[in-house]
Amino acid sequence: MELKEIEKKVTELVPKECKLAKIEAEGLDVVIYLKDIKAFYSNEQLIRKIAGTLRKRVLIRSDSSSLAPVEEALKAIKDTIPEDAGVSEVNFSPEFCEVIIEALKPGLVIGKGGQTLRAIIEKTGWAPQVVRKPTMPSSTIKGIRKSLLKDAPARKKFLNQLGKKICSSPVKSDWVKVTALGGFKEVGRSCSLVETPHSKILIDCGINPETFEPTKAYPYLNSMNIELEKLDAVILTHAHLDHSGFIPYLFAYGYKGPVYCTPPTRDLIALLQMDLLNVMAKNNEGKAPYTTKDIQHELAHVITFNYGEVMDITPEVKLTFYNAGHILGSAQAHLHIGDGLHNVVFGGDIKYGFTKLFDQATTQFPRIETLFMESTYGGRNDVSPNRFDTDKHLVQFIKTVIKRNGKVLIPVFSVGRSQELMLVLEEMCAKDPEMNFPVYIDGMVLEASAIHTAYPEYLRHNVQRRILSNDSPFESKIFIPAKGDRKDIVEGEPCVILAPSGMMTGGPVLEYLRLMAGEAKNALVFVGYQSALSMGRKIQRGLKDVPTVGDDGRSHTMRINMEVTTVEGYSGHSDRAQLIKYVRNIRPPPERIFTGHGDENKCDDLARSISRMMRIDARAPMDLDTIRLK
Ligand SMILES: [Zn+2]
Ligand SMILES: [Zn+2]
Repeated sequence: MELKEIEKKVTELVPKECKLAKIEAEGLDVVIYLKDIKAFYSNEQLIRKIAGTLRKRVLIRSDSSSLAPVEEALKAIKDTIPEDAGVSEVNFSPEFCEVIIEALKPGLVIGKGGQTLRAIIEKTGWAPQVVRKPTMPSSTIKGIRKSLLKDAPARKKFLNQLGKKICSSPVKSDWVKVTALGGFKEVGRSCSLVETPHSKILIDCGINPETFEPTKAYPYLNSMNIELEKLDAVILTHAHLDHSGFIPYLFAYGYKGPVYCTPPTRDLIALLQMDLLNVMAKNNEGKAPYTTKDIQHELAHVITFNYGEVMDITPEVKLTFYNAGHILGSAQAHLHIGDGLHNVVFGGDIKYGFTKLFDQATTQFPRIETLFMESTYGGRNDVSPNRFDTDKHLVQFIKTVIKRNGKVLIPVFSVGRSQELMLVLEEMCAKDPEMNFPVYIDGMVLEASAIHTAYPEYLRHNVQRRILSNDSPFESKIFIPAKGDRKDIVEGEPCVILAPSGMMTGGPVLEYLRLMAGEAKNALVFVGYQSALSMGRKIQRGLKDVPTVGDDGRSHTMRINMEVTTVEGYSGHSDRAQLIKYVRNIRPPPERIFTGHGDENKCDDLARSISRMMRIDARAPMDLDTIRLK
């Protein structure tokens, strides 16, 4: 809908006594500024009616002339919100005429049916935005919230320009095509370009974390002559670096548009991308493709919304996120293109099976003609044991090691499997009095867990309930942050240690390995994917003499005497059976499927099986292929 038409409709719907001041398109939202906000809220149905008519998210704000002075507003806000809401911070953002309230219990700030919020805006004029305070301290969330406030003037300008562009005159397209720019017949550097005559949208833009060689590590943006300034949008399915790791590069080289993702994904990319730069700097692995500044630039252009919200992202494309079940905030991106011309879903990474953390991936869409899906474990032999057996196996193994006075080292990825394992360990220690030992948490695992506690609505219902009732499993007393000397932990009582990186390519896990490897009573347990070239895979396959660098900076060889084992079944990806079941359950059934995000033989095998078993046209494109969808 064009801005002019929006203005006309809003003017018709808003009663005269509200004193309409102006109407703005701000990013994906329509903002209505009023001089008399009280009059507006006297009709409870009005906001719903306007949003329904415009089919857009509508925000109501007071005109800046009707805002109470900050001191006065702050007092009124404190008087209005109940004490037990746990308000930790109140910040005013004059550019947006908003007040951002951070609280442990946002529900109490909102009030029944939103009545407390309404009271705040009526008394002060400032439009309240409520954000949840994580139950554990998170420097990432703190940093992002602070920088959003600081960047408000520039962000406001960016959002208004974008809003105008999205609400420009309608266009009519007659074709849709997708170009594979990375992550097809391979794992890593996921990137696809969706084009119509009028829109250019990038879906994911990752790196291959296994290599620093630019021709293999980064998507094919240059060789396809993609003009970054001409892209309309970047959509990010989830925070893992093989999907997000190259986005700051786009900003370093001329992209100035929006990045769409869910709110937790925004926080997690800040954590993971900053860490990537640190790792690259530490390992001296070539020149990083971007700097901290580019990450900040990216974060200032991120626009978030939740699962199920239908958003106009260009005059002809609507985007909706659906749960993918893979990590916190992970989404399948549904694009509705050209008023029914074509519907395509980019699944990203999906888990279609039980985990303690998340509901499994959604399979119900309003319409879907084409599906792009992952094939990480799409090969015919990729069968994972059921979760019940997996948990039992892990618990048994840990018990045995603890009983013989050993310590268990588990290499983990900071985001995803580590939180899943924390839930398993927490539950088993609560149930079994024999399981009485500390679990040390090292590296970014704690920070990533803290981000989980800020978004309980993204977690499975019972975890959500526990976080909301002040009983967060991540804060169980069995978990001890590994501060200080790692040697003290290794020389102390029997324990379990969770430490990144998950594939032992770097991070604190290597120091633990060095300290623990010599003792046969200790154990190393692999629970996640080990890529072909990683140190983890080599040790998993039986390598006994591992080259390392000692405290003196010299290379040594380390003998692995500790027990090495693998417990399968904790993957955040679907196994072969789950992938097939996911496709079978998709409604309505897609007409065409493209497989990617897997080794070549797995992508091919999965596509072949889908066409044979379900009679759906399926194939595995290669990087640089362009496919016409319509
Ligand atoms: Zn992933
Ligand atoms: Zn991935």
